[in-house]
Amino acid sequence: MVIDTWGPEETRAFGKKMGQEARPGQVICLNGDLGVGKTIFSQGFAEGLGIDEPVNSPTFTIVQQYDTGRLPLYHFDVYRIGDISEMDEIGYEDCFYGDGVSLIEWADLIREILPDHYTQITILKDLEKGFDYRKISVNEQ
Ligand code: ADP
Ligand code: MG
Repeated sequence: MVIDTWGPEETRAFGKKMGQEARPGQVICLNGDLGVGKTIFSQGFAEGLGIDEPVNSPTFTIVQQYDTGRLPLYHFDVYRIGDISEMDEIGYEDCFYGDGVSLIEWADLIREILPDHYTQITILKDLEKGFDYRKISVNEQ
């Protein structure tokens, strides 16, 4: 599935819809360059789960857990990961293989430990279509 968005509100709304439809144990991988809207999507997704806390990129912690929604949300941003062993230290398996939902910004950086099945979301800019245009592709792996 591919959807076009023409501003951050639309990407957030798409994230919200996916959050409303999220199921226990789902792993969602978000890829795309810095500033494409991975965190905006994540904020909408959290809203769709009914999470009422502010969601930002978990810069220093790699993962941030939110427990106030319909399902637990584990929001990862692995951009600054140095070594894959850091994921073990975090206890990522309890997140990926538990009953919550994992949302992973920059998931391509930890490809070797992704589960067999996950939802792949890639966000791309296309400046010919305008500064605020994004192409969002969703695939089940
Ligand atoms: P990332 O987490 O991918 O680095 P952010 O979500 O933090 O990116 O930031 C995306 C930026 O792009 C925000 O400043 C947002 O306002 C802007 N933006 C412009 N158009 C869009 C769009 N269609 N979808 C998402 N964000 C957009
Ligand atoms: Mg981000």
